[in-house]
Amino acid sequence: MSLAESLDYDLMDETRSFVGETTKLMINGEFVASDSGKTIDVIDPATGKIFAQAYMGGKSDIDKAVKAARAAFENPTWSRMPSHERQRLMLRLADLMEENAKLFNELEVIDNGLPMQIASMGMFPFCSNMIRYYAGWATKISGDTLPSSPFGLPPDAETLTYTLKEPIGVVGAITPWNFPVGMLVLKLGPALATGCTMVIKPAEQTPMTAALVAKLIKEAGFPDGVVNFVNGFGEEAGAALADHPDVDKISFTGSTAVGKKIIHASTGNLKKVSLELGGKSPVIVFPDADFEQAIPGALRAAFFLQGQNCMAGTRLFVHEKVYDQFVGGLSEAMNFFKLGPGMDPETTLGPLISATQKERVMGFIDSGQQEGAELVRGGGSPDSPGYFVEPTLFSCPSGELNVVKNEIFGPVLCAERFGDEDLDEIARRANSTIYGLSGSVWTRDLSTAHRMARRIDSGQVGINVHAALDPATPFGGNKQSGWGREFGKEALDLYVKVKAVTAVL
Ligand code: NAP
Ligand code: MG
Repeated sequence: MSLAESLDYDLMDETRSFVGETTKLMINGEFVASDSGKTIDVIDPATGKIFAQAYMGGKSDIDKAVKAARAAFENPTWSRMPSHERQRLMLRLADLMEENAKLFNELEVIDNGLPMQIASMGMFPFCSNMIRYYAGWATKISGDTLPSSPFGLPPDAETLTYTLKEPIGVVGAITPWNFPVGMLVLKLGPALATGCTMVIKPAEQTPMTAALVAKLIKEAGFPDGVVNFVNGFGEEAGAALADHPDVDKISFTGSTAVGKKIIHASTGNLKKVSLELGGKSPVIVFPDADFEQAIPGALRAAFFLQGQNCMAGTRLFVHEKVYDQFVGGLSEAMNFFKLGPGMDPETTLGPLISATQKERVMGFIDSGQQEGAELVRGGGSPDSPGYFVEPTLFSCPSGELNVVKNEIFGPVLCAERFGDEDLDEIARRANSTIYGLSGSVWTRDLSTAHRMARRIDSGQVGINVHAALDPATPFGGNKQSGWGREFGKEALDLYVKVKAVTAVL
């Protein structure tokens, strides 16, 4: 039996044939094996079974890919390509992605474990619209004309000063496994719109949808070498990219711990770095909140993608007047979750990504109980193959517990009470982690909502919504949640160099 045949799901033939082939690297427009010829097992997290193989790239493969990206960056076919032509290629890629939405969904579901209900509801057109959004920017990246009277010139000297926004160069993109194709398009969009070239290192656990994007980039007609893909382990392929002397910038999404390693690795050539890292975001419920909106909202905030989601709202603050009612309502609403393989249409909560991740999450659940958190619901893991953990709700006596302070990256929600303290004090508690990525406020009072939004120390705040993601809305972290903003026009700044030109006339 071939590996792909072990997938006991109703899949399209196209999906089976895609996973049946060893996933290759794409370097300079060619689909190739890694130099070592070694492969990485790709595992279905719902069963723990290996269903595919991906070539494992290393330092020498990264080197080749960077050379190809550098040559493509300097090649006039790309560097002098009119911006509307770049835009046309990007729009073509977005169309191809959308035409392949079903294949993307199936690959992502078996690779990552997310429920098909979620993939088919929103992954496309979200990802193709991200590329379209940045395709729109490709023709609108412009500098300024500035009034200037340069120091040292006679006051009546006539001058002209203007700025150019030039592509930063070769970009190394390193992405995580939790929303593989989503994290990839966030980097691809602004990098291509600004005219950069790329080497992408997808997460070792989830190479499938990146391989499909590679195929479609080729099909869309991008010049060879503009985008290169090297699968591999972070410690080897990722580190070689982060450390590479001919890479101009690293765009990284992943854990705060690895983000710090990327910064260290960047010092050799002082490459630019942007980081989208971890989070432990607050969800703050005031007593006048509309519970019909807030309960499902808090549920989604905490458990979307099994809580393997950087903006997850995993610290719930509820006013004591409504605490029991809200927490009780939430616990009941958790009946919605049916654990199962993502490919089962009934599944509303899939497995975690790996055995390691499951062990880590179960460790946090144990530590929560030992530290005195009250287990309201869940806390177990079904005795079945695959990496399943029940959605878990704790009521916590303090914000000092490990389970409250640390990013768990699993389906664990910690609730705490607040009373009639002022908004500054509520904010102090909400902000008391090393992270600052997202957050939400639930109230019908406009003044409370906006005043609280100002006080939350994070890159994004929702009012009666948590994590409102749209291509146009900037997103990113304060404190140890990162450097820079992705999404929106802000992301373009991460991929350009500003040059000021002054002429004396
Ligand atoms: P991770 O372990 O930090 O890995 C992220 C990527 O970095 C992977 O491709 C990984 O390769 C690679 N990597 C590992 N060590 C490296 C090194 N020394 N040098 C260069 N690259 C290296 O994170 P993860 O476990 O995949 O993802 C979960 C984390 O991502 C969470 O903390 C989450 O909050 C964060 N995240 C943040 C955002 C955001 O937008 N802020 C979005 C999603 C996820 P391997 O595949 O071999 O591990
Ligand atoms: Mg990892």
